[in-house]
Amino acid sequence: MSINNNFERLGGEYIFAKVSKKLKTVDKNGLIKLGIGDGVLPLPKPLVKSAAIAAREMGKTKTFKGYPPASGYGFLKTAIKDYYRRIGAYISEDSIFVNDGAKSGLASILDLFDNITAVINVPSYPAYLSANIIRGNKIYHLYANAQNNYLPTPDGLKLENCLIYICSPDNPTGEVYGRDLLKTWVDFANKTRSIILFDSAYSRYVTTNAPKSIFEIPGAKTCAIEVNSFSKFACFTGIRCGFVIIDEALTFCGKSLNKLFAARQDALFNGVSYITQKCAAAVFTKKGERAAQKTVDYYLDNARQLKAVLKGGGVKVLDTTNSPYIWFECPDDLSGEAFFDYLLDNYKIVGTPGGGFGKDCKNYFRLSAFCTKKDLSLAKIRLQKALKSL
Ligand code: PLP
Repeated sequence: MSINNNFERLGGEYIFAKVSKKLKTVDKNGLIKLGIGDGVLPLPKPLVKSAAIAAREMGKTKTFKGYPPASGYGFLKTAIKDYYRRIGAYISEDSIFVNDGAKSGLASILDLFDNITAVINVPSYPAYLSANIIRGNKIYHLYANAQNNYLPTPDGLKLENCLIYICSPDNPTGEVYGRDLLKTWVDFANKTRSIILFDSAYSRYVTTNAPKSIFEIPGAKTCAIEVNSFSKFACFTGIRCGFVIIDEALTFCGKSLNKLFAARQDALFNGVSYITQKCAAAVFTKKGERAAQKTVDYYLDNARQLKAVLKGGGVKVLDTTNSPYIWFECPDDLSGEAFFDYLLDNYKIVGTPGGGFGKDCKNYFRLSAFCTKKDLSLAKIRLQKALKSL
């Protein structure tokens, strides 16, 4: 046996490690955290109620439950399927695999393939790159930049038989893929025997008529896998629940990926707790949906206000409306790391240097809008001052 030396190649993680090392040394008093994408609002009441009822059921012999089904309880899968129907995506219950969140969902899918060439945007959610680096997969980068409105297309892409990562709304850019562009990607994937790995963790943040699911696009069932999460709209980052959707019609090298993934989950995953799944199912009730929408609106409003301050200070901010993230080129030709230090040392604001989301993003910066209104008002004042003093 030898060690997996691929861990040493985790470059992007290096920036996050550096950031957290620096954060350990600063006085936390008055610090405003606009760095990581972790929610601050509490679990909505209808969800708490549902989890509490489930917990009480677990406390009685008659209603106690042991291991859950590896792919999730029927009640949650029905609720997910019905929600997808409401947004115009027709998926079956058997295509849904409930899990403990999108991050592990994304990693678990890699078990289905060998000799992967992963097509990953720069910038992108770092876990895409990390999961593929750890496995020693080949990586091909597509660049999201001003020339393509931060939405890469398959035009001129010579690859085939590859795993294409698409995140919409995107982290960190906040851009959302339109119907036509997604159809172009779906056609490309079907033509080149490739698989799209569609990350819809922020789909509830879509405020336009852009697709919330890849399965709204004709042809997606034969080339796409979707990964979704309760984290960002239902305050679930600390509860942990998400799901993967693989249509029964999806085959690769003559094998059903749905069946392979079911076998993978049976072999390696013991399911999500009953309490968590009951809590998640409450999101799809009238009261739950209303509460989730309130959460999304709260963070979107934060993002709008932060963007206005940045724009007012002359910063080139991406004009996005469907995301809790704000992505921009650092002012004054500063590097992301220098701007991070400047904001932290002088204004006690924590952001994320762009370099953490991919090479060539060293001059970019991401602010997260996952903060309370109290922190938001302070952040706005401090940001205004920070930009003026540059
Ligand atoms: N996908 C994207 C694009 C994310 O930004 C995140 C978390 O920040 C995740 C997935 C992970 O979500 P989860 O909390 O469900 O693991």
